[in-house]
Amino acid sequence: MKSHAAQAARFLEDAGRARWHDQALWFVREKRDRLARAVPGWEELRETAHAIKRHALANLPAYLEEFERQAAARGAVVHYAADAEEHNRTVLEIMTTRGAGLLAKSKSMLTEECGLNAFLEANGVEVVETDLGERIIQFAGERPSHIVMPAIHKKKEEVGEIFRRHLGTAAGESDPTALTRAARAHLREKFLAAPAGLSGVNFAVAETGAIVICTNEGNADLVTSLPDLHIAVMGVEKIVPKTRDLAVFTRLLARSATGQPVTAYTSHLVGPRPGQELHIVIVDNGRSDILKSAKFHRAAFCLRCGACLNTCPVFRRSGGHTYNYVIPGPIGTILAPHRDLKKYKDMPFASSLCGSCSAVCPVKIDIHRQIVLWRNEVVEAGHLGAVKSAVLKAATAVMSRTRLFAAAGAAGRRVLRLAPRFLYNNRLTIWGKTRDLPEMPARSFRAEYKRRRRTRAGDNSGHGDGPRSGSIERWSK
Ligand code: SF4
Repeated sequence: MKSHAAQAARFLEDAGRARWHDQALWFVREKRDRLARAVPGWEELRETAHAIKRHALANLPAYLEEFERQAAARGAVVHYAADAEEHNRTVLEIMTTRGAGLLAKSKSMLTEECGLNAFLEANGVEVVETDLGERIIQFAGERPSHIVMPAIHKKKEEVGEIFRRHLGTAAGESDPTALTRAARAHLREKFLAAPAGLSGVNFAVAETGAIVICTNEGNADLVTSLPDLHIAVMGVEKIVPKTRDLAVFTRLLARSATGQPVTAYTSHLVGPRPGQELHIVIVDNGRSDILKSAKFHRAAFCLRCGACLNTCPVFRRSGGHTYNYVIPGPIGTILAPHRDLKKYKDMPFASSLCGSCSAVCPVKIDIHRQIVLWRNEVVEAGHLGAVKSAVLKAATAVMSRTRLFAAAGAAGRRVLRLAPRFLYNNRLTIWGKTRDLPEMPARSFRAEYKRRRRTRAGDNSGHGDGPRSGSIERWSK
């Protein structure tokens, strides 16, 4: 498995794509800012969302029981799955016992996390993604590069070529409207033919047993209402206590995700429609472990809105496929280590620590702080790598001894002034690949500070307690 840095370097080789990816996501971020600014009390909304999540997840067993009771009372069947394997087996069993061999599916990051599609197809079930972006990457045999815009890395010309191969559209066709029409005609056949539909869940309301699904394309509404069998899958963290909590979350979600005041469809499903079976599969898959962690439990508050991805300078410039975990970007960097610290040890380093992710997160997760804490965990677990560990140990030894630090600084200034550039800017110094060192100053900050103090003391001698004229100007030079 290649590191994030190595894969990002490859992504950046296509400078045009990298620039366009960056600009496309920044456009969404700016839309989000405009919409957020237009809501009075936006920050209070974020605080409230954080408080609701904290309360709901601190009382999760009680709210899950209440949800199950209410959903069952309205005709749904609730299943629990401890992990991805149990989730996949549960879905397969529901499908096969009803003889359903075709599943129309709306977007769900949980199913990506569990590897559901591959599992079902290996067991003879045809799976059709009906979200346009998801269908594009399903045809392309890829995974989503973004949790909300799964095909954001694809240009329209590439989509045209994919559709030519899979849907028989004209060669060279890249008009988005024509391509969308072709996808619509193709998906309509699948919607009508599928005996079963599977959807994700954005919110599950404990007091009513309702599930709420927020989408823009309307595909989820067809998936959930046309077939006689609807399977809804959700992580345990999707529980909210009351219907009124949705007033907070739906206002935050669409604005944060895509810069819309509200998603085109916000569907509340309270039990199955007449003649339909509704199964709700509630999945843990490591979430309880996150919630048990004193340092990291807030990562479980995530709504999967994608705002932290859109704003992250590293994500925008490296693309979602460079992260080895199914959820990329800032939230992925703090979720992946929960699954396997050794395997995902480079994820917490895919960050500039600028804090922009935490600033936009609608549920106020302290993402950048958690990234730093994960870096500590990587170091303490000994996963940093021999070279980096040795360099950091040496740096710690020097920087924690004042005289040694001053002597090293003096030597460094002299050496770097004389040394040829290739000695410090070469293939081994990753930092120097795209940066140059500034010109070495004549004196250290410490020496300059002392010199100015001395000059000021000399200038002010004989002034007693009177005003120290000119000192402010001198300091500001
Ligand atoms: S961490 Fe926050 S900003 Fe990022 S996807 Fe989750 S809810 Fe959205």
